[in-house]
Amino acid sequence: MSFRRAPNPNRNHPTFCPYCGGEDLWPNEETDFAWKCGECLRVFEVKFHGQDDPGRAPAAALSTPDALQASLSRAGRTAVLRATGDTGKNE
Ligand SMILES: [Zn+2]
Repeated sequence: MSFRRAPNPNRNHPTFCPYCGGEDLWPNEETDFAWKCGECLRVFEVKFHGQDDPGRAPAAALSTPDALQASLSRAGRTAVLRATGDTGKNE
């Protein structure tokens, strides 16, 4: 099998046609990124241009011991021994 040109590793594969929702999609020779819909016969491109930085980054997650301390603190248990997990209360 021979290719007219080398395969494009940056080509993204659409699942559905953006115009009619059809799934009969085939690579098209129009450009390196072109797809042809076999249902509506439109030729379109799918390109990934990169990713923007988020406007607001989520806070870093707490470590497991810190998350445990925060959870216990919300439950009103502040005297927790980290080494044993003992709440200091006798039940
Ligand atoms: Zn279509």
